Amino acid sequence: MDLRLPTHFGQGYKNPSQLARRITEPWGKDNLYCCACRSDRLDAQANNAQVSDFLCPECAERYQLKSQSKKLGGRILGSNYQKMLEAILDNRSPNFFLLHYQLPEWVVRNLSVIPRFAISPSVIIKRKPLSDTAARKHWTGYVLNVALIPDSAKIPLIIDGTERPSREVREKFARIAKIQTLKPEQRGWTLDVLRCVESLPNPFFKNDDIYAFEPELARLYPDNRHIQPKIRQQLQVLRDRGLLRQPSRGVWERV
Ligand SMILES: [Zn+2]
Repeated sequence: MDLRLPTHFGQGYKNPSQLARRITEPWGKDNLYCCACRSDRLDAQANNAQVSDFLCPECAERYQLKSQSKKLGGRILGSNYQKMLEAILDNRSPNFFLLHYQLPEWVVRNLSVIPRFAISPSVIIKRKPLSDTAARKHWTGYVLNVALIPDSAKIPLIIDGTERPSREVREKFARIAKIQTLKPEQRGWTLDVLRCVESLPNPFFKNDDIYAFEPELARLYPDNRHIQPKIRQQLQVLRDRGLLRQPSRGVWERV
């Protein structure tokens, strides 16, 4: 990948977000690759929306590129909440590339991909409706809460200006793709328990270690009164998909 962004595409644009999109979109076309298959390129999709969309010419996997000059932290702004929610439930939401570039040099510092199946309804949060102005009045935006996505589903392609091998990126993508077989509405729980598992300091843990997250999970799922059985069920789901091992009853190992 060429880490220098093609700034000449931004000539004549003053609006910062428009300018960034003009510059990062052609960069994506020349540098992004498909994380789901062996395709070394993605095609930019012509559209009139405020987003940069890419399509894999081989496996038809869709990607959306989000970029900003600050390091991407917890929250990413998205456009249409209802459309995104429907896309998630219908298994056709895009994968997200998150690009962080450095100014004034316009160089890429960090890039990661979030596979679409790691985005459950619980990580998109509806924003307050916009004021009754402009063409937007019929829909509300959303915030993608990246902090709620497990670390293993935020797959780095570039870390602090250093590229990771594409083979490693694709292996990590394929690993998390194992939860694809779950229905979209079931994945929220699985991903939340995986996130808790990944935040434990030790790869070996017991049921009690993960029950420590019960208050947090109860906040996310206020209607569920059986959190511990649900946690145990999700640990089995993760085990059956090869994301955990179970050396003995009640003992687990992160893989
Ligand atoms: Zn592909």
